[in-house]
Amino acid sequence: MDYTVINPSTEEPIEIVRGLSRDETDQAIDHAVRAQAKWLKVSPGDRAKVLRRFANAVEDQHEELALLEVVNSGHPISNARAEAEQVSQVLHYYSSGTERLLGKQIPVAGGMNVTFHEPFGVVGVITPWNFPMTSAIWGVAPALAAGNAVLVKPAELTPLTTLKLAELGLEAGLPEYLFQVLPGKGSIVGDRFVTHPSVRKIVFTGSTEIGINVMSKAASHVKDVTLELGGKSANIVFSDASVREAAEATPSSIFDNSGQDCCARSRLLVQESIYEEFMERLEVAVREYKVCDPMDETSQMGPLISKHHLKTVKSFVPDDVSIAFQGTSPQGRGFWFPPTVINSDVSDVQFTDEIFGPVLSVVRFKNEDEAIRIANDTPYGLSGSIWTNDLSRAVRVSRAVESGNLSVNSHSSVRYSTPFGGFKHSGLGRELGPDAVHKFTEEKNVFFAIG
Ligand code: NAP
Repeated sequence: MDYTVINPSTEEPIEIVRGLSRDETDQAIDHAVRAQAKWLKVSPGDRAKVLRRFANAVEDQHEELALLEVVNSGHPISNARAEAEQVSQVLHYYSSGTERLLGKQIPVAGGMNVTFHEPFGVVGVITPWNFPMTSAIWGVAPALAAGNAVLVKPAELTPLTTLKLAELGLEAGLPEYLFQVLPGKGSIVGDRFVTHPSVRKIVFTGSTEIGINVMSKAASHVKDVTLELGGKSANIVFSDASVREAAEATPSSIFDNSGQDCCARSRLLVQESIYEEFMERLEVAVREYKVCDPMDETSQMGPLISKHHLKTVKSFVPDDVSIAFQGTSPQGRGFWFPPTVINSDVSDVQFTDEIFGPVLSVVRFKNEDEAIRIANDTPYGLSGSIWTNDLSRAVRVSRAVESGNLSVNSHSSVRYSTPFGGFKHSGLGRELGPDAVHKFTEEKNVFFAIG
């Protein structure tokens, strides 16, 4: 069924995309099975060469991809450029993975024992709308390097850059049908990835609710899953931190990508002795945060992704909520919402639920134990920051916070060469980092009897 893709900054239609049916998805899976059998016959060195060519092709098209992402997703142009750059970096990084799938020779009695890493066959990658290009390539690059075929179901709202990546892959020499992007509904195309017997591994990035549904269906097919799900990460500022640095970094830790970031530090915990000074500095930084046309080179924040999502975010900020301060946002067309900071209590819905918008909830804490207790009092565990100049405290707190990715005196979450993933309801398994290619294989053990 055809559907129209909308520019969230202007509400104008950009393109009509054809969503696939269940039968068409099955045909694509059959094509992928055949393409993978051929890919496996290509030597590891030649597979690496094709992946490098794919990386170079993306590099040549950084600006085009970035511009397309601005139009489709409303990301500020500087952020969209960084995302396009990350796509080629990830492809380069995993291209050499084809030749690093090392097995083991294990000493045993009566013969020789060797392990091999065999690809799953066909991998299904289901992506969300917030970071379309990067969440696709985190699965696609290591899956291809490991010898799999890969199918991507992009979010209905943001399929354009992922479709472009598949074109670039084909032009760069990937065999036909090895990497296919299949737009359509999650309940049709995504569901078929999960239930079709030939798709042996699923990488799902999206909400915890749908992730649970995907995992339970995959279980009945005994299928491998990696889940990258929701978050409600804490930004903990201790009194011994540099208050200025922490306050200046806080707006981008929550408002980047309009707060539509699974790693957004949407809960701010400030030690009470520095609370007033911190909030004064934060207010200045929030009021300076530039929310405008994402094509503007100085834009730091664009619109929300859709009218529906804008309504959801607004519902978290009713008239009687205690707003500490707000930034500004454009009026008129587009799905705009201003950066908003809320005086909160730990039991408030704004402090407990993933809003996925530019809304920051702030509480005070007395001491380290209380900060850790509040940080961990959530079903999520994806990311977070700890601001302190006490090394022992940094080590203690980073070991105690239940989260897959933490940064000390920084709000960065993702580096493609380090593992990424969540604790608790934020996910299962890890993407990126040096081990990702192995996660797209099954270990096979072969014993050779020696007479
Ligand atoms: P979503 O509603 O869960 O959708 C994610 C993807 O799943 C979309 O492609 C969607 O298709 C598809 N889908 C829907 N129903 C499905 C089904 N029954 N079977 C298989 N696939 C199905 O999430 P979203 O709203 O796009 O993204 C926001 C969420 O993603 C937030 O919770 C955020 O925290 C999380 N996220 C996590 C990470 C991470 O790395 N941990 C990264 C980014 C985002 P449709 O487009 O048709 O709905």
